[in-house]
Amino acid sequence: MKCDKFELPNGQGTAIICSRGRRQKCKDPGCDRNAVALCDWPLGGPNYGKTCDRPMCGTHRHSQGEDKDFCPGHERAKNTPHIWCPRCHMPSFNPNDIEKKFCGHCNAFHDQLDQLPPYEFPKKGRRKK
Ligand SMILES: [Zn+2]
Ligand SMILES: [Zn+2]
Ligand SMILES: [Zn+2]
Repeated sequence: MKCDKFELPNGQGTAIICSRGRRQKCKDPGCDRNAVALCDWPLGGPNYGKTCDRPMCGTHRHSQGEDKDFCPGHERAKNTPHIWCPRCHMPSFNPNDIEKKFCGHCNAFHDQLDQLPPYEFPKKGRRKK
């Protein structure tokens, strides 16, 4: 997600405001530049419906096109083989989990998930797909 730049009144310069918050600095270690984007990596489990939201400068953002950006860590995650659990929406990067389609959060194989009660997502912040 891109951040917006706009002129401050009285010629005080420009500010960058992220749509999800106030002006932020890039969170990459050792980087002090203003953030121009927030990470859109979808979170699962108790944070389902939210995104990573890590602020990133122009150098550390990884554009995914269509106003979507990932932070360096989630860019790596994206390029690492993983599976998403259809119940709790958490990814797993464990090769054994991927091979067997197992979710460590639900502690069940994906084809057993319909025997479990629905995952309890927090009511607030839940986003419709
Ligand atoms: Zn940076
Ligand atoms: Zn991220
Ligand atoms: Zn799960």
